[in-house]
Amino acid sequence: MKPETVVIIGSGPAAWTAAIYAARANLKPLVFEGAGSRTMIPGGQLMFTTDVENYPGFPEGVGGIDMMLDFKKQALRFDTRVLTEDIVQVDFSRRPFRLHSSGGRDVRAQTVVVATGANARWLGVPGEERLAQSGGGVSACAVCDGALPAFRDRILAVVGGGDSAMEEALYLTKFASEVLLIHRRDELRASRIMQERAFASDKIRFLWNRTVEEVLGDDAITGLRLRDTVTGEETEIEVGGMFVAIGHIPNTGFLRGQLDLKDNGYVDMPTAWRTETNVPGVFAAGDVMDDYYRQAVSAAGTGCMAALDAERFLAHHGPAD
Ligand code: NAP
Repeated sequence: MKPETVVIIGSGPAAWTAAIYAARANLKPLVFEGAGSRTMIPGGQLMFTTDVENYPGFPEGVGGIDMMLDFKKQALRFDTRVLTEDIVQVDFSRRPFRLHSSGGRDVRAQTVVVATGANARWLGVPGEERLAQSGGGVSACAVCDGALPAFRDRILAVVGGGDSAMEEALYLTKFASEVLLIHRRDELRASRIMQERAFASDKIRFLWNRTVEEVLGDDAITGLRLRDTVTGEETEIEVGGMFVAIGHIPNTGFLRGQLDLKDNGYVDMPTAWRTETNVPGVFAAGDVMDDYYRQAVSAAGTGCMAALDAERFLAHHGPAD
């Protein structure tokens, strides 16, 4: 079979934007949107976001799921083909690249755009997943959800002790009556400057040596059951929201040994402001290579860049047999 011109792996804002650009450039992209599982569904992290209010062009906001379905629809309007399968193995040692899917399919590709994203790390305690999926006040992104009316003037909890937790806590002080920073140790991992900013806020209260054992509430969060890691004592506190900021896990397991990854697992990008990876012809876009901004709009922007980079690469190097 003739190799594909562009294979795009993923189905978040980066992947669909890459598909829209590649399709409109007549490259007939093939998208592997992912097979889906209990914790992962095609569409990426926005499938878990109820309201997106910071994506330009939607003055009234838009539902995360609606937005991703529209991204996909727009890609399908042009010449995009989609397979609901994961890519589980790749051989990037030479072009055309070889990819093997969860559906047992072997595909060859002249260029590849990796846009498999990253997943927020969750606590995995009772109540958390249910209330995150239903929009019941549990979130892994304060910048995405913190400004929603449900969180105004409420006591909000942030879980974690790293820079993200400090940043989310500081951001939430704009809306919350009080922010409770819950950390499992008595020492923060966050950088000195972020720690100092958080300590300086009179709206942030630190609950040290505490783990969240359960998120309470039926339709919406009402509180948390905490455990003191030193005494073992359990307490219940009232909160109107919980923001989990304990890190992200990039979806790069299938790339190990094939593409340079950073120590934290994200794709290593050798050149700033370019989507080229260390393998010529393989490009990366969105959260899989971005451990810093992690926004839908920045992911979409890099998806566009990756498609343009793939197009230019093909124009310059031509197809390989
Ligand atoms: P991180 O630095 O890995 O911190 C994760 C935090 O979550 C740690 O405090 C960890 O506790 C805690 N944690 C992990 N698993 C947990 C669990 N199961 N239950 C309870 N707590 C748990 O992650 P991050 O804060 O997302 O930062 C990631 C990277 O981005 C870092 O390099 C950071 O510097 C950078 N970043 C920078 C900025 C900034 O400079 N403005 C902002 C955001 C992120 P322990 O400390 O006990 O391990």
